[in-house]
Amino acid sequence: MAVGVVKRLAALAGAVLKNRRGGAPHPAWCTYLVTFRCNARCGMCDSWRMKPGSELSAADAGRVFAKLGRLDVVRITGGEPFLRTDLLEIAEAVTRASRPGVLHITTNGSLTDRVVELAERYSAPRRLAFMVSFDGHREEHDANRGKDVTFDTAMETVRRLAALRKPLGIDVSVNHTVISAQSLADSHRLRAEFLPRGIDVQSVLAYAESSMYGIKLRGKRAEHLIVPAGYPLHPKLAGADVVGFVQRELARVSGMKSVARRIGKSYYLRGLLARLQGGANPMPRPPCVALRSHVRLLPDGSVPVCQFNTETVGNLATQSLEDVWQGAKARTSRAWVDACPGCWAECEVMPSAIYSGDFIADAARGIAGAVRGMGSHLFSMIRPEESDRIARETI
Ligand code: SF4
Ligand code: SF4
Repeated sequence: MAVGVVKRLAALAGAVLKNRRGGAPHPAWCTYLVTFRCNARCGMCDSWRMKPGSELSAADAGRVFAKLGRLDVVRITGGEPFLRTDLLEIAEAVTRASRPGVLHITTNGSLTDRVVELAERYSAPRRLAFMVSFDGHREEHDANRGKDVTFDTAMETVRRLAALRKPLGIDVSVNHTVISAQSLADSHRLRAEFLPRGIDVQSVLAYAESSMYGIKLRGKRAEHLIVPAGYPLHPKLAGADVVGFVQRELARVSGMKSVARRIGKSYYLRGLLARLQGGANPMPRPPCVALRSHVRLLPDGSVPVCQFNTETVGNLATQSLEDVWQGAKARTSRAWVDACPGCWAECEVMPSAIYSGDFIADAARGIAGAVRGMGSHLFSMIRPEESDRIARETI
């Protein structure tokens, strides 16, 4: 095993221990909103309505990430990240400063040439992962997103990125945000567009309300969306067979191409299903690592607590990491995180599952269950020929 992988695994083990003991390890996973601006007009998101506020320049972003130092994963998101005409410079600045194993970019796929240009010019394409978002098939997608972010343009973006997978080694997947009963009904048609091209489709169920992107909730705690059991579904999904949908999604996970997605989605969908079925103690339930291994950055460099609590604990553009991470506000907010009953937003669940060690605990629970004849476990998501790729893909 390469020395780099061993070092990262050792750092991961250290972070797990520190998180479990209530410490504040160095951040390892950063979710960076490069802009709130968006050219879509989605009904369930206010990002496009917000005053954009100030945004770090590429040079500023480089300085902020130099404070964060080495990171395992950087997820770039928005708004629509490609509205930043300097996104390539930002990506390079982040890479120079933090050398992430994965640089993940979520896009609505409307600015095809910019997306493709970044893929072709970025200096470390094998670390690059794109996720293009859809809300359903053509009619539903276009009705929700508006005239500048069409299904056909997003499809074209996926097609052109897919053609670059082999020559560049980039990863491309599609996210289906299930926003309504029609969107749910579109899932098989959407899948039929992408599976023949070898592109994994992952689904999430829309929350009742957007917290990070809700104007009313900005800078506040969206405590009504954080529920110990159940799942706060969007009202447009009322009456839809979400349980059957998630059961079918779960059954399909083993067919995904990427082993990291198979493992992550299996974990996430089991937790989602448990919540939708309404049990009192839905599992898995990882200890949250927000403000510990997972740091979020807003466009101006400020650091919110998490997806559902956008109170900020400091600003990395103007303060040192030490001041932000060890300051009184961060300590108070960590106590709030520790008392939080838990959410099931995938962008928070994944880092928590990894850096709390719950992926491993979940696998152990699954093996014990399989031994007792009670189903499969996480390792069943791994094909024998893939074991040597796992560390590279998951860290
Ligand atoms: S959901 Fe995404 S694409 Fe839609 S307005 Fe919000 S940021 Fe833009
Ligand atoms: S579980 Fe963590 S990320 Fe989710 S709402 Fe609670 S503190 Fe925020």
